[in-house]
Amino acid sequence: MSIRAVHHLNCATMCPLAGFALGGTAFSRGHMVAHCLLVETERDGLVLIDTGFGTRDIAGLSGLSRSFRLLTGPKLDLAETALAQVEARGFTAADVRHIVVTHLDLDHAGGLGDFPQARVHLHSREHAAALARRTFKERERYLAVHWGHNPKWQLYTENGDTWRGLPAIARLRGINADIGLLPMHGHTRGHSAVIVRDSSQPTDRWLVHAGDAYFHHHAVAGDKPIPFGFAAFERATQIDPAARRASLAALRQLRESYTDVAMFCAHDPTEFAALRDRVLPVTAAAS
Ligand SMILES: [Zn+2]
Repeated sequence: MSIRAVHHLNCATMCPLAGFALGGTAFSRGHMVAHCLLVETERDGLVLIDTGFGTRDIAGLSGLSRSFRLLTGPKLDLAETALAQVEARGFTAADVRHIVVTHLDLDHAGGLGDFPQARVHLHSREHAAALARRTFKERERYLAVHWGHNPKWQLYTENGDTWRGLPAIARLRGINADIGLLPMHGHTRGHSAVIVRDSSQPTDRWLVHAGDAYFHHHAVAGDKPIPFGFAAFERATQIDPAARRASLAALRQLRESYTDVAMFCAHDPTEFAALRDRVLPVTAAAS
């Protein structure tokens, strides 16, 4: 068994304006999470998948724009950072040897700097886009301060491998466990889902962290429409509309075709509640 445990963490709560457009009531605010995974492996230490906001964001040192804060209403709670939740489980920052990111948007890459020794794995197109920040939208979404510590980047492109019929990067350098990238471009230029074979459960299953390829579970499950605010948000944040639609269709197909796949996106609190970590952190358990 190469994976001992998978923890589902919320590393950023956001309460966007106009909750009614996001499936809530008339004057409510919305509720979004930043669903991250902390994977305990047999041989490769801890692997963190996405990072939410980091300690610099909470301290107001990363330059989260006023418009972003106004629109999304981030809670900015130190206890929600990946670092705090790693430490609450009795580990240290140095135990996180690898980070795999779906993409480098500010609400996914904020915690990179809290784990300066970790190798950071991602699609090479995402890395190039985030460092170039070519368009206005990309200058808003990517904060260079999040990688100001010059991480040990591990970059990948499609290499002919497939997983469940989809182009995949099935092996990541230095990681023995079954963790890979599933390119799902469109939200950003190099956005990818992350696949994890969770062998810690009695029945093996594949977790598919779809990042921001969609924002609401209705997008991939059943035939109900998604709340219009999410549809508008998807369109407002996408960099390549055709690629985003193709990615969504592929994820939907994947979910329908395989019963051993547990799929979730980064920000849906309903999906998070179904999977969230139910193990008490060691500090809480000890008290
Ligand atoms: Zn996001």
